[in-house]
Amino acid sequence: MCSNQPEQPEGQALDVRIIRSARRKKTISAKLVNWYTLEVRAPDDISDAELDEAVDELVQRMLAKRNKMRQYSSDEDLERRAARHNRALFGSKLKWRSIRFVGNQQKRFGSCSPSRGTIRISNRLMNAPAFVLDYVIIHELAHLIEPNHSPRFWELVYRYERTERARGYLMALAMEDDQIEQE
Ligand SMILES: [Zn+2]
Repeated sequence: MCSNQPEQPEGQALDVRIIRSARRKKTISAKLVNWYTLEVRAPDDISDAELDEAVDELVQRMLAKRNKMRQYSSDEDLERRAARHNRALFGSKLKWRSIRFVGNQQKRFGSCSPSRGTIRISNRLMNAPAFVLDYVIIHELAHLIEPNHSPRFWELVYRYERTERARGYLMALAMEDDQIEQE
């Protein structure tokens, strides 16, 4: 059905970044800094065995949490979402010929050709959280009106209330990609 299924990170698809601190007493805390990275903060004097055990448990918990956020999108889903945002944010004024996932956009998350009316979304976003995917769709839809990144463009995009959060998420993802390329 769909030829460009993304690689689906399974199992231990979380990089764990451990930060030990002498100032921490007993507690270990963890947060997902982006989709792929779990940051664990631990006291300096905790034993490796104890830390390993705690990290294992945290990874399981975070994977479960992440799986709840995950959704799988498709080209049909893109059409539905774009139509919905067109109604909600653009007064149903926008028209486009196609919106679909593509696999050859490593640098960009989306692109738009306003003259042809075609929108392409990186398939790296196929299983990103819905609010991030929606932001990229809205960003590309707004380019149908403003083919630039002018203040007027951002005014359109910021009609979507989760724009700021989604941009932060994508920035973290892009930074991580850069690190991978350097290796
Ligand atoms: Zn843009």
